[in-house]
Amino acid sequence: MTEITKQQVLDALSQVKGPDLDGDLVSRNIVTEIVITGGNVMFGLSVDANRAKELEPMRLAAERAVSEIEGVDKVMVALTAEKPASNGAAAPNAQGDTMGTPRGAKTQGAAPEAGKVPGVKHLVAVASGKGGVGKSTTTINLALGMAALGLKVAVLDADVYGPSLPRLIGEKTLPTQDPTSEGKLQPAEAYGLKAMSMGFLVEEDTPMIWRGPMVQSALQQMLNDVEWGEIDIMMIDMPPGTGDAQLSIAQQTPLAGAVIVSTPQDLSLIDARKGLNMFLKVSVPVLGIVENMSYFICDKCDARHEIFGHGGARDEAKKLDLPFLGEIPLDKEIRERSDNGQPIVATVPDGPHAKVYKEIAKEIWEAVDGKPAPTGPKIVME
Ligand code: ADP
Repeated sequence: MTEITKQQVLDALSQVKGPDLDGDLVSRNIVTEIVITGGNVMFGLSVDANRAKELEPMRLAAERAVSEIEGVDKVMVALTAEKPASNGAAAPNAQGDTMGTPRGAKTQGAAPEAGKVPGVKHLVAVASGKGGVGKSTTTINLALGMAALGLKVAVLDADVYGPSLPRLIGEKTLPTQDPTSEGKLQPAEAYGLKAMSMGFLVEEDTPMIWRGPMVQSALQQMLNDVEWGEIDIMMIDMPPGTGDAQLSIAQQTPLAGAVIVSTPQDLSLIDARKGLNMFLKVSVPVLGIVENMSYFICDKCDARHEIFGHGGARDEAKKLDLPFLGEIPLDKEIRERSDNGQPIVATVPDGPHAKVYKEIAKEIWEAVDGKPAPTGPKIVME
């Protein structure tokens, strides 16, 4: 098989007109990094976030142009948006509320209608009211906890504002693609999990604003154009916040349930309540709240320090009549390992932290599947 080169892709894209039919995609300098794995080509087109919907034909034209290159099986093109330098507009990670489209608002109240994802038994969203509460770290470790139970697990990083999955699992690119895969992309595989993220497509620290329709377009491709195989449970790391973009994901993805991650601080709990309301609006059951960075055990004195006023999430869960799924300590090792691509449940599977994650994982599985979790050979549950 002849290898496809970036130059061939750029040549094809230079035949596609840019926004407003002015110049071409290459001369307008809007093509992001191009990722080529076997016969699959992925890239983004960075455009004005307000024009995502109107520029969909341009996205399709780019997809078509590249799919005509000899040897190309599958093309994935997402519209992304560079953060405008001139205005201090919505910080992508702060409040989803500022960046959605009115579309989501009109569709509230309906249950998710999107078709099932082939091969995937249950989809569970992991959400948080705001960024930085440890949602991604919690998602990956819970997924690993489920894998340790003997389940087949996938992780989808829908946090397009700050995709962190590649860093968390220590895989920067997708694997070399298997040509027999019917034109679908092979996901990354790490620590027994299958994984997909926009971070394989766009550099992690590229500042971007995504609007609802762009997020949907990228997410639908990651769900449906990836060869997931047989999966018991897919954990979806949601974009932080509870705005329209998040609401529309919750609505258009066939979710079995949602888990809300919160730190014990009040602010974050208020946000957690917003998260709950968001899922209620679209009739997705909230499986419970996980309290992250709940307490801190000092390496010097071994004492437990409740620096953020521990227990807030448990009280809040009670008030909201939701299951409290468990509390995860603030621990340097959790942070260091996840920031180095060696998540703690995979790399210290018999440690006390792995035990906590596995217990929560088990509860989540039992809540969505209605059956006890299989007892994988590696795990001991009291
Ligand atoms: P979010 O997805 O909510 O933005 P991340 O999972 O990226 O948050 O976590 C933010 C930072 O906090 C990361 O550096 C991560 O390693 C760290 N972190 C997350 N959970 C814990 C924890 N329980 N203990 C220590 N550090 C944590």
